[in-house]
Parts: sequence; structure tokens; C-alpha cells
Amino acid sequence: AKVTRLGPSPTGFIHLGNLYGAFVDERLAHQSNGVFYLRIEDTDDKRFVENAVETIISSLAFFGIKFDEGVTEHGDVGSYGDYTQSHRGEIYRFYAKKLLAEGKAYPCFLTEEEISAIREKQEKEKIAPGIYAGWSKYRDWDKDPEIQKLVTDHIDAGDPFVIRLKSDGTPNATGEDIKRNKVVDGIRGTLDVPENFQDIVIIKTTGIPTYHFAHAVDDHLMRTTHVIRGEEWLPSLPIHVELFEKLGFELPVYCHTAQLMKIGEDGNKRKLSKRKDPELSLDYYRDQGYHPAAVREYLLTILNSNYEEWRMENPEADIDEFKFTTEKMSNSGALFDLDKLNDVSKEAMLHIPAYEIAEFLKDWSLEFAPEYSYIFDDMDLLVKILDLGRDEKKPRKDLVYARQIMEFISYFYDQSFKIVDEVPAEAEADKVKILGEYLSSYNHADTQEEWFNKIREIATNLGYAAKPKDYKKNPDDYKGHVGHVSTVIRLALVGRAQSPDVWAIQQIMGEDMVKARINRMIE
Ligand code: GLU
Repeated sequence: AKVTRLGPSPTGFIHLGNLYGAFVDERLAHQSNGVFYLRIEDTDDKRFVENAVETIISSLAFFGIKFDEGVTEHGDVGSYGDYTQSHRGEIYRFYAKKLLAEGKAYPCFLTEEEISAIREKQEKEKIAPGIYAGWSKYRDWDKDPEIQKLVTDHIDAGDPFVIRLKSDGTPNATGEDIKRNKVVDGIRGTLDVPENFQDIVIIKTTGIPTYHFAHAVDDHLMRTTHVIRGEEWLPSLPIHVELFEKLGFELPVYCHTAQLMKIGEDGNKRKLSKRKDPELSLDYYRDQGYHPAAVREYLLTILNSNYEEWRMENPEADIDEFKFTTEKMSNSGALFDLDKLNDVSKEAMLHIPAYEIAEFLKDWSLEFAPEYSYIFDDMDLLVKILDLGRDEKKPRKDLVYARQIMEFISYFYDQSFKIVDEVPAEAEADKVKILGEYLSSYNHADTQEEWFNKIREIATNLGYAAKPKDYKKNPDDYKGHVGHVSTVIRLALVGRAQSPDVWAIQQIMGEDMVKARINRMIE
């Protein structure tokens, strides 16, 4: 059984990467009957944002991420807490003291000025920055009585200090002769990781641990077997390997996920950026009103290269039946594409009953678009509208995400809706004639077949081909074809050249509304 965790920082910004990682965590844990827990990594107190933890929990829950243990809206669940890092100060300090006692860490009183001087010297000698063995005069405090005296004096004077790891790595100006370790990554296979040689800070002057230290202590104490995190952490892996070793902990299996990329304005792949790409934020999907099932479905298509194939073979299967594996994950940068998400969403909407979509839209409108609230006074009507054409087994172009759906179906409700598409050139001159004939022959009780025969009749009477292929074969014999004629009627009724079946729409609208709309376009 695998134990995985999500360790978000409560910065108020939950990005797509969090959800992406959470899916991997969730699948690995639950496919192995393991545990998936939520840990709040809030040791960076500068970034504290009100209600951020609640937002993390509710946003992830919205997209179907359920934690077995950890921080929940009702407090901690599970026996390895506290699951909030800022509540675990004593635990980190306990392990820091242990490292101090074992001579694996040291208190470092270097001042800003001393550190700047070291940096300058490193720059001059072209040595990569960092505090290495020998750079800090406090390093061997446990062996040298003189340094010990220095430390005691600093402590007596109340001087601030950090605790640094005493790295075994050797500083090396040229980068040669660095020892390397083999580390197996769950996604990338065996990595050749250079040994760490930086005396990194593990406890800051405030007594608060750094991410490196807190993560090692927590992932060990919380029995984490698999750490899934973004590849931006790969450069820190040498540090973590040494930290786990010094702490005497077994290294978990790291799985570094690829960055989410998109095709940028210049046609090249680039990282999604917080500044340029609103779709990096999870809020974007909630605000636009993407159905969580659609987002889940889409993320799996970019997570696992064999997912789409599986979905094609199992169109009705529950997503949880898919056997997710880290081996099938991309490590070159998963490509994120909104158009593809929209396609997946159209498809996913077909599998959700119309009344569920209606409920979903209602909840969404309450939170994000109260201006549509009147639509939900008549849920039966909305369900009928959403159900239009759904038995065709063809995704409807107008059911993608809430904002777009509301915009699209607004013609049912708004009598002054805009005609957004143009009358086809072939029928422009006959527009009024077509609508006039349509109105005089209209019988609301017509079956779909009777109705369509009438359109054909109008078309042929006015010199249009009854079938598009006849017109294409002999364009000189006709003004256009029946499709051009019916588009005029469609535009009058819904304002767009594309919509579900017009006859079915008319059944919902009722006779009076149909006639009023045809008249409106004649005038
Ligand atoms: N707190 C880290 C972040 O938000 C978590 C990294 C990890 O999962 O180890 O990026």
C-alpha cells in the first residue's frame, strides 16, 4: 500500500499543478489500498493568506479530490498529525537538536556582512554560491573549544543564528570529482544525482524550519512512501537525499512530475505562467463553470498517455476503473491545451444527465453569475433545453462550460437576442419571402417529417435545390439549397447558424414565440 500526500502552501493561489499532482497522489494511494493525506506547508509565514486552507480543501473537493487523512474542514483526521507544519515547531526542533548532538548540524552565527563577503570571494574564485564545508567558522564547534566559546558568547549575547546541516560533500570549485548517487524516480527512472555539498539552513533564525527540513521530517513521521511533486524540486533532490540519510530515515520514492506547458504565442512550447495564463489557476475553471467531471477527464488525458485509448474502449466506465501508472507519465512536459479541454468537456457533458447539468449550472450561477438566476425558476424548461439533441450521440457544440452554455441558450429567454451569424449570401435576396412562406404554412402540430417537407417545398418553390448535392452538381440550376433556406429560419429563431434541431427547439418555444420571432426578422 502506498502513502501519498499533497503539501500545498496556503498562498491563496491554487494552481492546476496542485490538482494535477493530487490526481497522481490519489490514484497511487487508492489503487494500492493506501492512504492519501493533506498536509499544510505553511512555514513561510510571509505568504499567509486568510481562509487559504479552506479554499484549498473546497477547491480540491470540487474537482473530486478526497483525502483519507490530514487537515480537513473538521480538523485533523489520522494518527500522524498535527498535519499543519506551523503547529509542529517542537518536532522539527527535536530533530534539529538530535542532528546537533550527533555532530551533523551546527549553529551558525554568520552575519549578513560575513555572508556577503563569502559571496564576493566565491564570485571572484568562480565557485558556485552556497555555504560549503570550511566557509562557516562555526562548523566545527563540537570539536574545537575556541569555537565553542564563540558560540556560547553569541548565545549569551542573544545573537540570532540559524542551524545548518553539516554536509559531507566537499566544496569543489570546478565541479569535478563530485560523488554521485543513484536515485530511482517513480516517473523518470534511475537518476544520477550529484551529492550535496551545501551546508543548507534547516532551522531559520525564527526557529522555523526550511521546506527541506520540514518535508524530510514530516514525510518520514507521516509514513509517506511516495512523494509526488513538480520537477522544479529536482535541483533540491541532492539536499533531500543527504537530509534523509543524516536523519537516519528511509528515502521515499520521489516522483517528479513534468511542468505543464502550452503552445505560446510564438508557436513554441513554454511553461504556463501565473502572470500570462489565467488558466493556470484552478479558480479559472470554477469561474468559467467547467464541470468537474470534464476537468478530471481532461487531466487524465494529459497525465497518462494511454488514457484516451482506454476511454475510447470504455466510454461509460467510471474513471476510477482506469489503471493509472507513473510509467506512462510524460517527463518532457505535459502539454496543456484549452481547445482540447473544451473537446473533452463536450464529450463529458454527453454522459451527464440533463437534470444534473441543470443543477450544476444553478449552483455555478449562484456563486459566479447571479444575473442568470431567473433561468432556474423553471428547471423543467432548462432540462428540456439541455436535453435537446442529446440522443444523437454527437456532442453538442453549445454545451461546454457554464458561461458559454448560458450565453448560448440565452436566446430561449431573451426575446431581443442578437442575431450573431449572417444570412447566407445564397438566400439573402429571398430572406423576407422565405420567412413569409414559412409563417403562412406553419402548423405547430406538424411532425418533424411534415415540418421538414414544408421547408423543402418552400425551397423548391423559390428555386432552391431540395438536396445540397443537387445544388453542388448543378449550381447554375439553383439559387442555393434547402440548407440555405433553413438557415434563414434558424437565424430568426435562435440567432445562430448552428443549433440543435430547429423543429425540437420550436416544440419547446411554443407557437406564439416561434411566430413572434419569425415576424421580428421580417420587419
Ligand atoms: N509546499 C510545496 C509547494 O507548495 C510542496 C512541495 C512538495 O510536495 O514537496 O510547492
